[in-house]
Amino acid sequence: MKKPFFYLAIALILLAAILMFNTIRVKHSIEAVEKVEVVSISEKAIDHLEEAITIKTISYNEEELFDSTQFELFNNFLINTYPLLNSQAEHKIFNSYSHLYKLEGTDNSKMPILLMAHHDVVPIASPALWSVHPFDEGVKQDTIYGRGCIDDKGAAISILESIEQLLKEGFETDRTIYLSLGHDEEVGGQKGAHEISTFLKSQNVELAFVLDEGGAITQGLIPGLDQPTAVIGIAEKGMVSLELDVMMAGGHSSKPEKETAIAALASAISTLSDHPFPKHMTPVMEEFLDAVGPHMGISNRVAIANRWLFNSIILNQYEQSSQGNASVRTTTAPTLFQAGIKDNVIPTMASATVNFRILPGETIETTVDYVKDIIDDSRISINIKGSGFDPSPISSVSNAEYALLSKTIRSMYPDIITCPNLVIGATDARYFSAICPNIYRFTPWKLSPNNINCFHGVDERIGINEFEDAIRFYRQLIINFNNLE
Ligand SMILES: [Zn+2]
Repeated sequence: MKKPFFYLAIALILLAAILMFNTIRVKHSIEAVEKVEVVSISEKAIDHLEEAITIKTISYNEEELFDSTQFELFNNFLINTYPLLNSQAEHKIFNSYSHLYKLEGTDNSKMPILLMAHHDVVPIASPALWSVHPFDEGVKQDTIYGRGCIDDKGAAISILESIEQLLKEGFETDRTIYLSLGHDEEVGGQKGAHEISTFLKSQNVELAFVLDEGGAITQGLIPGLDQPTAVIGIAEKGMVSLELDVMMAGGHSSKPEKETAIAALASAISTLSDHPFPKHMTPVMEEFLDAVGPHMGISNRVAIANRWLFNSIILNQYEQSSQGNASVRTTTAPTLFQAGIKDNVIPTMASATVNFRILPGETIETTVDYVKDIIDDSRISINIKGSGFDPSPISSVSNAEYALLSKTIRSMYPDIITCPNLVIGATDARYFSAICPNIYRFTPWKLSPNNINCFHGVDERIGINEFEDAIRFYRQLIINFNNLE
């Protein structure tokens, strides 16, 4: 063998050895857990969820459509349906329709926990596409249908049922438990969760753990992973909308100038779309890959265990899908475009709105700077529209709280793995960052390619078994946190 080839062969053998060594070294660190006994759930729980769904607590962007009578009905439903909670917990109402319950613990050396959900729902965009009535169908065979099943009345009712059942069993809590139910999550949560978090902060409350929506039990949604996987949100993206305006000479369409306001704005939007924000391997993505990698096939395992070499290949693969892309970069979405009033008049003004979802590590400020830099056109004014928010802090996966959440999930759902993830939408949980470092986002709904589109979409539904398991899950979680020192 010639000398250069000899060295190349040695280098390749060394590289293969390093890759294999790293791959073998990375084992999943999840210890086996004992399954907990399956407790029976009151048959009335299903009636309660059905009843909650019939109450049309819809959040509209247009404030004048807000139907206060429906939210009052929901207030009454809470009082009438959960007598033990209402008699044993402190109850505070915020802006008439958001609720905070406090079940005082006997041991104030244990920091309180907060379980949260929201009871407002999004409107029905295409009623004709539903195979059932979105508010009145209830149970069909083994499934509960209706707007809010998954997002988020299902979780609200599951948490309420779990607490009511525990109180019926004579459960007395050492650790203070808060339950927060927001009535405006779908329109930003300012009147509900924001007010509740501000109140708790004013009372100097510090929380050991917060659980909100934002993750689920997925199957067939993570490429390369076949097992059911409980995806737990440990951070959420930030958000900002920018308005782009152009003012240029208009006039009669029979003698247009070389460039018009519409053309200049369209060109700016097109430049933005052609220059996506840089993709990054965030700390959240690293944690996600560390958790799922060991459960994948050999080629994925080698790549994930050797990210020093395969980082860009992994990122390239993730950016192929819209969900994956949103996990590795700040996204750019033009959502509004306005110009013109008549077909023979060149408008003097054109305006567009672009919505950005900001990756952890970046901010509103860096997003605005990037956009100005890329568009680089002094004719286009760029301004923040409404109020955005920076990405949330990232909650740890190496504390007792995350371990207990993961363990509780694994003790209730057979053959499941858990992993941390980035929530690409926004949840009410972000308001609690100031009073809790350990915020997690997970509801035990089973999402697969078959039903993922019913979220905010058509035929929203959950299985009866799934709902009963959710009540068991929250019940067990409360017991486990009570036992945690
Ligand atoms: Zn929701």
